[in-house]
Amino acid sequence: MLVTGSIEEIRSTVKLWKREKLTVGFVPTMGALHDGHLELIRKAKSEADRVVVSIFVNPKQFGPSEDYNEYPRMQKEDLRACRKLRVASVFAPTVSEMYPASSRFSISLNQLNRHMCGASRPGFFEGVVVVVNKLFNIVQPDLAVFGQKDIQQFRILETMVQEFNHDVELKMGEIVRAADGLALSSRNAYLTNDERLKAPLLYRTLQQIETEIDNGVTELSDQIRQRREELEANGLQIDYLDIYAYDTLEPVSRLEKGCNYILAGAVYIGSTRLIDNIIIDL
Ligand code: AMP
Repeated sequence: MLVTGSIEEIRSTVKLWKREKLTVGFVPTMGALHDGHLELIRKAKSEADRVVVSIFVNPKQFGPSEDYNEYPRMQKEDLRACRKLRVASVFAPTVSEMYPASSRFSISLNQLNRHMCGASRPGFFEGVVVVVNKLFNIVQPDLAVFGQKDIQQFRILETMVQEFNHDVELKMGEIVRAADGLALSSRNAYLTNDERLKAPLLYRTLQQIETEIDNGVTELSDQIRQRREELEANGLQIDYLDIYAYDTLEPVSRLEKGCNYILAGAVYIGSTRLIDNIIIDL
């Protein structure tokens, strides 16, 4: 497995593969790899001849009061996991390799980031779009796998690929969960024992609302208000909990047959922010 922090080296490696007509799958990550990341890598492996995993804690997607410095970094373990899965190359650049000079460009989004995580994390998706744009230009993969866990990110990147004409196919990896339903996340490591016990409540709540939808309920505002109150009574602080149109990521008040939706929530347990979602195809 080639481990490199050099843009030039990963580029020339991928070029050689492409000359041999090998297809390239790409899994961008911020490291501290867990089973969710490993599933994305397996998916990439099943669909491409060579897989590149990037490990880069991207400073541009952290707000000033967010956890950039505390974000878990465990490259040795990550490399071991990648080797075990027979990843062809890990691209782990330094911040100065990715952002050498003060940048003279910025990318702004004018839709898709108005609600959900975009509303509470200003600048977050701009940071994601900049880094993934750069990573796609560096690695030039045939396909890239991202998790449903970060559904708003997936939708924004899908749109970026279309609008900026990136020659890459995006694939969505299912959410990998702990036995009690909690979606795996590198940030789960921040939870105290007590907080960890409460953490599965977010997914349970989404499942309860999903059951109502399965039972034919189409007006969800009362139901969602009640679920929010229950979560708060359990000591979880709600950032958002709502149902959004899959295409626009705008909240919807009435569900219609034949449409796709995202039931999504973000909560704080103590100072840890957890997100989760369920895709609803009616
Ligand atoms: P991150 O390292 O948190 O930036 O995540 C890298 C990729 O892993 C993103 O595409 C995430 O959506 C995906 N991911 C994170 N958690 C999970 C999970 N529990 N199941 C599946 N994919 C995940």
